[in-house]
Amino acid sequence: MKRIQIAEAAFEKVNSAESFRKTGYSVIDLLAEELDKSNQTVMEPALHWETPERQLEYWENDFYAEKIEDPVPLFREIIKRSINMTRRGNLGHQISAPHPVSILTSALMAYLNNGMGVYEVGMAGNVMEKIVVRDLSRRFGLPEDASGFVTSGGSLGNLTALLSAKEKFLKENPDTRHEQLAILVSEEAHYSIERAVAVMGLPKENLIKLPIDADFRMRTDLLEEYRQKAESTGRRIFCVVGCACSTSTGAFDNLKSIAAFAKPFDVWFHVDAAHGGPVIFSTRYKQLLKGIEDADSIVMDFHKMMGVPSLSTAVFYRHVGYAQLAFSQHAKYLWQNQQSEEWYNSGKRTFECTKPMTILHIYTILRMYGSEIYEQQIDFLYGLAELFSETMMTRPEFEVLSKPQSNIVCFRYIGKGTDLNGLNREIQKKIVRDGTFYVVGTMAYDQYYLRISLMNTRTTSLDLMKLADSIVFIAGQIEEDRNRTSV
Ligand SMILES: *Cc1c(COP(=O)(O)O)cnc(C)c1O
Repeated sequence: MKRIQIAEAAFEKVNSAESFRKTGYSVIDLLAEELDKSNQTVMEPALHWETPERQLEYWENDFYAEKIEDPVPLFREIIKRSINMTRRGNLGHQISAPHPVSILTSALMAYLNNGMGVYEVGMAGNVMEKIVVRDLSRRFGLPEDASGFVTSGGSLGNLTALLSAKEKFLKENPDTRHEQLAILVSEEAHYSIERAVAVMGLPKENLIKLPIDADFRMRTDLLEEYRQKAESTGRRIFCVVGCACSTSTGAFDNLKSIAAFAKPFDVWFHVDAAHGGPVIFSTRYKQLLKGIEDADSIVMDFHKMMGVPSLSTAVFYRHVGYAQLAFSQHAKYLWQNQQSEEWYNSGKRTFECTKPMTILHIYTILRMYGSEIYEQQIDFLYGLAELFSETMMTRPEFEVLSKPQSNIVCFRYIGKGTDLNGLNREIQKKIVRDGTFYVVGTMAYDQYYLRISLMNTRTTSLDLMKLADSIVFIAGQIEEDRNRTSV
């Protein structure tokens, strides 16, 4: 009896609405303070770098310390010890600086915790998904009977689409053996395609990579030759993947030519538009996606260019029937009618069983700011990338890999020494240790390049000039150190 009373007292405390309200207000104050810092004209650091060992030591101590009443100091410490996506100098990976309202929809999503897989546990959410997906598929120019849903991440989205492609091919070509199935893709494709191939149990060499041209686009003129070569060794091409855009350099494949290749052979045309899909909102840049209207499936991340917290990804199918192909496993207790589409039961089409209601973020952003906000965002961030690359091209200390096609720019510092790879790697490391900026690196033609993704609408061209100047400064220090040690 006593045990139950103690437990009841504990539940009362845990479930208290009053303490939720109190803590909630302080948390909002804390986050608003952080947003304020990100919006200021002085640049607050993107991160305070610390070694994994030091972090481990800190958190191990924290974890086993005495229980806390108020979580706010803990949250403050977490923020201090994490990269801050809204800071202007955060130019690293393709993860959004979330729109502030989506921090609030995250709270709403957590409160509702609707599992989405069946209609009852996601009544509003499943319908919102249908509406947003239909709106977007119209923008892409897909037919009226196109379909789709939201899932957790581009990697899972790509796998899901490729599974559908495989099932369709096997259905139509029942004499094909699994190990014959092959995919054509550019050598710049995201590694999630390679993972999908591994998950599907296809031989590694059945992911056939086409070389790229000088602009890092797939050599579509070689598609037919590669197809013939594959078929002559007994393989069957069931899918071709276009990148829109590639992760490493931000190059958009020529989707129109890929579509033209795929059609006569009835090869499934998948577009990995995880990063670049949102250019569909921009009158100025949407021609980069020309040909996407012929896709059999498309993947587009909301958590990259659309200011939504991770993970939230849309998968689109040209025809409603395709969506059903990926997962034929039936759970009789969940769905009455196994054959019908039942768009409102999203678990029939996604890998996920319990699925978060991430549609709340994009739905709310669109309701508040309209699709214009995305056009403005694309135009601004793509424009900023162009401006940065043009300026860098005029500076003799720098080399730009290629004219940017998106908001991703790759460049490097040209020093006096011969070891440019070593120098630029060292520069990247030092930038991260300093923390004002966060930039990453990539390889192209076996050379190491610094790489920035412009994701944050707070970043200005002046900030980017400051980055360039600090690279020159850091490089000077490194070269000085090298000279000293070589003397
Ligand atoms: C980011 C990205 C992915 C993977 O998406 P996640 O949401 O990180 O799983 C796949 N393809 C491309 C082109 C990407 O940019």
